Amino acid sequence: MALTENGTGFSLATGFSQLRHDWTREEVRALFELPFTELVFRAAQVHRQNFDPAEVQISTLLSIKTGGCPEDCAYCPQSAKYDAGVKAEKLMSLDAVLAEARAAKAGGATRFCMGAAWREPKDRDMDKVCAMIEGVRDLGMETCVTLGMLTQAQARRLKGAGLDYYNHNLDTSPEFYGEIITTRTYQERLDTLDVVREAGIHVCCGGIVGMGEDVDDRAGMIVALANLPVHPESVPINMLVKVEGTPLADAAAVDPFDFVRAIAVARITMPGSMVRLSAGREDMSEETQALCFLAGANSIFYGPKLLTTPNPGRDRDMALLDKLGLRPSL
Ligand code: SF4
Repeated sequence: MALTENGTGFSLATGFSQLRHDWTREEVRALFELPFTELVFRAAQVHRQNFDPAEVQISTLLSIKTGGCPEDCAYCPQSAKYDAGVKAEKLMSLDAVLAEARAAKAGGATRFCMGAAWREPKDRDMDKVCAMIEGVRDLGMETCVTLGMLTQAQARRLKGAGLDYYNHNLDTSPEFYGEIITTRTYQERLDTLDVVREAGIHVCCGGIVGMGEDVDDRAGMIVALANLPVHPESVPINMLVKVEGTPLADAAAVDPFDFVRAIAVARITMPGSMVRLSAGREDMSEETQALCFLAGANSIFYGPKLLTTPNPGRDRDMALLDKLGLRPSL
C-alpha cells in the first residue's frame, strides 16, 4: 500500500514508513530533489524506526579469483578488455581462503564475502566454491559470494552448501546501463536475482554512483532496486573508484552531498534493508562517511582491499566508528 504524504512514501506527521514495491521515477526524483537537510532528516527517521542507529554491520570482501574477466564493465580493472594492471589469477585454494576468513573473524567481521571475476561459474568451480562456503560457515560466519550469472541448479547448489547471501548488482538505471556494460543485459541480471531468490538465498544488490549518470539515472537505479518483488536484504551503494586503464578512469568526481543523497534515498525506499557504504570510502572524508551513517548507511566493508581497489585499513575504520560512537553489530 502506498503512503501518502508528498508522494514520497513518508508521512511527515508520523515519520512512519513501510515496505513499498511500486515506487515511480517521479516520486524517487522528488526525494533526490528535497533540500539536503530535509532528505537526511527523513532518512535518519526511517533508519531509527527499523534499526539501532548506533550499530554498523561489518563485512570483509576477498577476491577468490582475480582478473581475466570476459565482461566489459567500464568501471572494473578486472575486465580482460582493459589494461589496468590486474594480473589474472587462478581460483584461490580452500586453505588460503579459510586462513583469510579466520583473520577476518578475528578482526570483528561477521560476514565473509568472496568474489570471483567470472561471467558465470563453471560446474567444476562450483565444487570448490561450495567447499569454501561450508568452511566459512563452520567458522561461524555468514557467507556471501559474487560469481556472476547463475543457473537455477547452481543457485540451489549454493543454497545446499549453506550460502546466506548472493551479491549481484544492477549497477545503474536500465537506461544508462548500456553505457557501462555491453556483454550482459540488464534482464540477465534480473534473471540471476530471480534464481537466487527462488533458491532461498538472501540478495545483496546495489549499484554505483559517479559513472557519468545523471540524477534521473540514480533515481532509475533506486526504483529498479526498490521495486524488486522483495527488497534486497543488503543494498551496497558504491562510489566509483576510478582506476587507470579503465574507460571510467577520468570520470568527473561526484559531489559528496550527491553521494549522501543516494544513500538517503536508498534508506527511505528500502527501509528494512542493510544499506552498505561500499567502494569509494578510501577517498571519502570522515565527515562524508558520518553523513552517510546519519542518512541510514548501516554496513561497511572493511579490510585493506575491496577486491582489487584500496579500502581504508581496519584501524582507521574502527577509529572512525569510535569517534562517532558507533559500534560493530554482532
Ligand atoms: S564487475 Fe565483475 S563481471 Fe564486470 S568485469 Fe568486473 S569482475 Fe567481471
